Amino acid sequence: MNLDIVDTTRDYTYEALEKDLKSLKKRYPFIEVSISGKSVLDKNLYSVKLGNGPNKVFFNGSHHAIEWITTPLLMKFIENFSKAYSKNKTIRGYNPRDIYKKSTIYIMPMVNPDGVDLVLNGLSQDNPYYNDLIKWNNSSTDFSKTWSANIRGVDLNHNYDASWELSKEAEALYGITGPGPTRYSGEYPESEPESKSVAEFTRSINPKLVLAYHSQGEVIYWNYMNMAPPQAKNIGQSFSKVSGYPLDEPYGITSYSGYKDWFIKDYKRPGYTIEVGKGVNPLPISQFDKIYNDNEELLLLASVI
Ligand SMILES: [Zn+2]
Repeated sequence: MNLDIVDTTRDYTYEALEKDLKSLKKRYPFIEVSISGKSVLDKNLYSVKLGNGPNKVFFNGSHHAIEWITTPLLMKFIENFSKAYSKNKTIRGYNPRDIYKKSTIYIMPMVNPDGVDLVLNGLSQDNPYYNDLIKWNNSSTDFSKTWSANIRGVDLNHNYDASWELSKEAEALYGITGPGPTRYSGEYPESEPESKSVAEFTRSINPKLVLAYHSQGEVIYWNYMNMAPPQAKNIGQSFSKVSGYPLDEPYGITSYSGYKDWFIKDYKRPGYTIEVGKGVNPLPISQFDKIYNDNEELLLLASVI
């Protein structure tokens, strides 16, 4: 009788991620864990590979620091999928062994580990950006409720090459002129090691479909400047049906330079931003069970669709 590895009742730091990846790999040796890049502060950007099939999909979480609840969501999915695979059991009617043959699921559970740790562990004295961070955070040393960006104050989900210039123009309207907690798109697209690693990883695996997990709103964004392929809306409707989250299209500043925007623009394939949970970020971990329950079938469906 083995206890579950991924603890979904506590805040989920980079340390928890590393520990759980190690334990999952030990219990389920068929999981492939790789380092697909480094953060500004040299933390590992881990990616997990499940399956060997030709249908490649890519799921990622925690582009935004205060949205760290999306990391345990993906980690719990890895655990439950692997457990069912090893026991040859189905999950919600899906057979992981069939999925394993048909698909390869790539998961990057924590795109922004420096930011997540800033939110959850606070600002440490030896942080090389110590003084800048306080300045960028409107002179506050409390990052726990405000910080979305990476450790250089760049919003990673505004740092992709998809109408990046429009994003830059829109920033001015919000009074954003440089690094800060949210919405600063950086000096140029993919200027940050984290967004660059995600884009390079995407280019290297060439996935058929991507999901970028965020919080909050219980909504699925599926389009980008009407460039999404014809099947994208239908697939989105299937996701909507299994999750209970309605489809929506973004407007204004949030409609540019995000990961899914870039993916849709460059690949003309289905890419989705999924906003989990409801309330004010950071969502409390007490919402985890509902969030997981809403998204488990969506994740299975996205693996085979
Ligand atoms: Zn977000």
